[in-house]
Amino acid sequence: MDASDVESDLVNILFTEEQIQAKLAELAKQIEADYDGKDILIVGILRGAVMVMADLARAFHRHLEMDWMAVSSYGSGTKSSGVVRILKDLDTDITGRHVLIVDEIIDTGLTLSWLTSNLASRNPASVEICTLLRKPEALRMPIDVKYVGWDIPNEFVVGYGLDYQERYRNLRDIGTLAPHVYS
Ligand code: 5GP
Ligand code: MG
Ligand code: MG
Repeated sequence: MDASDVESDLVNILFTEEQIQAKLAELAKQIEADYDGKDILIVGILRGAVMVMADLARAFHRHLEMDWMAVSSYGSGTKSSGVVRILKDLDTDITGRHVLIVDEIIDTGLTLSWLTSNLASRNPASVEICTLLRKPEALRMPIDVKYVGWDIPNEFVVGYGLDYQERYRNLRDIGTLAPHVYS
């Protein structure tokens, strides 16, 4: 791989920076209306949700708090390991709080379904999920996702926080990788 030519590894751009920003503004507006008069704690799931958190948070015109969790569900490749572990827990006591989990993508839904019940057991006022992307597989999980940017086909995507072997997170657009990257 030519480290100086990251963008050219994307063969198909699904969403541009502009489309992503417009979508996040739309979601923020909807969330602001739904949580009118309530304090919100948004919880970003490291590391993929860093870009979504940064841009979604700045699309709000109201106060909110931000915290982070890190969980492991995938290895370094493109397949789910089926194991969820907390690598970094919240610094915030969420008792009585309105918690909004922010993630960049839901694939099988395994990670977030596990995380939602974990957070729900800490007696928050509410727990909802906001994800930029969702794959069809996730629709078969008993997981209620209140805010979804886009439903996408079952393809492996990178960019805007999404990695392949820890690379491509820094791309501004979201797309699929050229076959030569995998070989
Ligand atoms: P799930 O537990 O929903 O199957 O997977 C959740 C995590 O898997 C996501 O937060 C993300 O880190 C990773 N993941 C799932 N699908 C994709 C994908 O298409 N591209 C990338 N880069 N990561 C993905
Ligand atoms: Mg994630
Ligand atoms: Mg990953």
